[in-house]
Formats: sequence, structure tokens, C-alpha cells
Amino acid sequence: RTAKKEIQEKTELSYLDDLTGIFNRRRFRELLKEEWQKALRDKKVISLLLIDIDYFKEYNDNYGHIAGDQVLKKIATALRDGVEWAGGVLARYGGDEFVVLMPEIDLDRAEKLANSLVKKTNSLGIQHRYSPISNCQTVSVGVAAITPEPGMQPEVLIERADEALYKSKRYGRNRISTG
Ligand code: GH3
Ligand code: MG
Repeated sequence: RTAKKEIQEKTELSYLDDLTGIFNRRRFRELLKEEWQKALRDKKVISLLLIDIDYFKEYNDNYGHIAGDQVLKKIATALRDGVEWAGGVLARYGGDEFVVLMPEIDLDRAEKLANSLVKKTNSLGIQHRYSPISNCQTVSVGVAAITPEPGMQPEVLIERADEALYKSKRYGRNRISTG
């Protein structure tokens, strides 16, 4: 292996989340900036989904952290399949939170994808006896779509999706909301 190749491989790894193998938050930030600029230039819409696992602390507390890690991996893999099929990118945003970036996808289509990801997670059938809302592990999603305008910061997209995610949690989880 050449030194050049080695550096290249290390750089690629620094873009990935250790546990799940999907993009990490750092890579997501770069992608968001790039896609935001493109959307601004081309006057195109850009959608963002924030996905958070429901009652995941209860899962860890009852089944253990190692089992929790396995759940994160399983859900990440399932989400990635659905997201890539729809033309988006998936990244791990934080502990039990994932983010999806969907260039040129409007709110209507983003909502449809979000609903399919909620269903997909349910259909994994990961038993969660300590969830107050279901027998199995579920996720909540917040959806936002913006056509960027000069002077706007890409962070508004995250903020709006985060508000929507909070709504999903408040209205009972295992669902999507828009911001
Ligand atoms: P909510 O439905 O409101 O999202 O409840 P929650 O329990 O999922 O939310 P909270 O933010 O209180 O807990 C998130 C938990 O995720 C805390 C921690 O136990 C777990 N967690 C975060 N990162 C990891 C990880 O890398 N591995 C494992 N096993 N657990 C993690
Ligand atoms: Mg959670």
C-alpha cells in the first residue's frame, strides 16, 4: 500500500461513524453546505429529515449497551437502504439520532420517504418490552423542506426539522411531523 493510498483511506474513514459505518456528523455538515450552495444557485428545494429512536434509554437500561449498539446498527442499515433508494444521504447525527439530506426533493416526497422509514423500522420487529407505546423499537421523524434564499443559513433547515421532530415526540412518537 502506498503512502498516498494510506492517507486516502484514513481520510475516508474520518468521514464514517465507527459503530454504524454510515457518514458521521462532520461529513454531514460538509454535505449540507455543498448541497445548500447548489440549491441556492439552481433555485431548487432541499429536504431534511431528523430521525430519533423512541425510548432508547429504556432499551439500553433494560437490555444493555451492547444490545443497544446492535439496534443502532440494524436501524442504520435499514434506514440507509430506504434513503439511498430514494436518492438521499444518511448520516448519524448524534447518539440515537440520524439525519437524511434530500437534494431536489420537495416536502411532499420527503414526507412519503419519512413515513416509509417509520414503517420500515416497525417491520424490523426489534422487540422492546419496555417501550410504553409499542412492543417493538420505533422511531420518530421531523421533516423540513426549504428553497434557499440569499442570506439564509443552512442551519435553519436543521432547526425546522428539529421542531418537527419534537412535535412527533409530543404527539405520541412512532410517527412523522413537518416543520
Ligand atoms: P425519546 O423517545 O424521547 O427519544 O427517549 P430516549 O430514551 O430515546 O431519549 P434520550 O435522549 O433520553 O436517550 C437517548 C439514549 O440513547 C441515551 C443512551 O442510552 C442511548 N445512546 C446514545 N448513543 C448510544 C450508543 O452509541 N450506543 C448505545 N447502546 N446507546 C446509545
Ligand atoms: Mg431517542
